[in-house]
Amino acid sequence: MEPIKKEFDVVIIGASIAGCTAAMLFGKQGLRVALIEQHKEPKYYKKICTHYIQSSAIPTIDRLGLLEKLEKAGANFGSVDFWSPWGWFQNNHDKNFEEKIRGVNIRRQTLDPILKQMAKSSPGVESFFGYRCNQLLKTKNKILGIEIEDSTKHKVQIKAQLTVGADGRMSAIAKMAKVKEKNYPHGRFGYAAYYENLPLTSNNKAKMWILNPDLAYSFPTDNNLTLLACFLTKEKYETWQKNYEEKFIQLFENLPRQSIPIRKAKRVSPFLKSNNLKIISRQVSLPGLALIGDAALASDPVWGIGIGWAFQSAEWLADTCSMYLKKKESLETGLAKYRRKHRKNLQSHHKIITQSATGRRLNLIERLLIYSATKDSAVAKTLHLIGSRLISPYTIFQPNNLGRIAWVLSKAKINSLLPEADFKTSH
Ligand SMILES: Cc1cc2nc3c(=O)[nH]c(=O)nc-3n(C[C@H](O)[C@H](O)[C@H](O)COP(=O)(O)OP(=O)(O)OC[C@H]3O[C@@H](n4cnc5c(N)ncnc54)[C@H](O)[C@@H]3O)c2cc1C
Repeated sequence: MEPIKKEFDVVIIGASIAGCTAAMLFGKQGLRVALIEQHKEPKYYKKICTHYIQSSAIPTIDRLGLLEKLEKAGANFGSVDFWSPWGWFQNNHDKNFEEKIRGVNIRRQTLDPILKQMAKSSPGVESFFGYRCNQLLKTKNKILGIEIEDSTKHKVQIKAQLTVGADGRMSAIAKMAKVKEKNYPHGRFGYAAYYENLPLTSNNKAKMWILNPDLAYSFPTDNNLTLLACFLTKEKYETWQKNYEEKFIQLFENLPRQSIPIRKAKRVSPFLKSNNLKIISRQVSLPGLALIGDAALASDPVWGIGIGWAFQSAEWLADTCSMYLKKKESLETGLAKYRRKHRKNLQSHHKIITQSATGRRLNLIERLLIYSATKDSAVAKTLHLIGSRLISPYTIFQPNNLGRIAWVLSKAKINSLLPEADFKTSH
């Protein structure tokens, strides 16, 4: 059967965080958008994700009109408290600062269907759910659109000025377009599960334990549930695999300074497991093509950055390219602006993140910074802003921050900074 032929301004492959965001924002600009998703069911959601959204994405979420919907759906807003081998660093007292760095806890099970529904009913957006993209339409130098197919082999050819790959970490679009990519080693595996009636001993904020080199988290979320998660270095994988539930329980019961009474709670989800994760960065555009979200940059999930960056990169693309798409000329100028914005905002974070993704222990600089943050609220604030992805990690090297750190360290007991002082876990 001959494929049906259609034409749009933009065709977006992948209706998850990045794809739905881009579709809504391009649609609002009066552009005609085709949104393609291989899963037919609008309630489909990404299963392997620990769901914390950094505050850097809140303005985008707000702009989409999604913030209110998340509040209504029971999302838990707040910043993260960090535990380190030298104690906690957290934001306890400063309400204005809390407002600035607060992120969102909402399960993907809740978030994804809301977002998909919004995108599907957005002006200018025509959705093709249950269609998979297996082929690009292209000339030697330019991507012209895609061909999609549903389970009955019904084919549609879609031509567009701009094709957008929002198809996730293993992006088939990037592969078909032969986009250059860079891979980075990942040295941790993860387990996570949702619990009901988990009595948390202090506030209802998200927590991250830097167990050096392992990591543990608790994320209180919608529906009165709490996600517990851990990422551990790979040499432990075999022993964990044999008895992971008991190991998981013991890890949380034996956390330093805050045992989580996990046996009193009810596990209400299967364990989410992740191993052999690929960290990939890709060239974010080619003539006629742009990548957003994980398809552009799938960094280490242990820092909870992917959802936020998917929202933000989609917004950057729509903001830089809509004008050129409307004029039907000079799209390459818009794509060059998108490339620069993506690099400027994310490259430095990704560089630092990949260095610790191997599963190595904290290096000396990281020790000094984290130690200083546990002793000094100004340093803690800077680390919170960096961790929330609101400022570049290199801000820490500004003279005022270095001066503050030097002052803290001048009073430190040096042996407390040595590796031997680290917390030893039994897991
Ligand atoms: C273990 C783990 C924990 C994580 N925890 C966090 C966290 O706490 N916080 C955070 O911010 N991020 C986290 N992430 C990352 C986060 O899940 C991703 O960054 C985010 O989902 C990326 O969104 P996206 O829209 O770019 O892609 P995805 O959510 O991957 O969506 C891609 C979409 O494209 C569709 N698709 C793919 N190929 C095709 C095709 N050929 N045709 C049609 N449709 C197609 C898919 O069905 C899917 O709907 C975690 C990731 C992992 C692996």
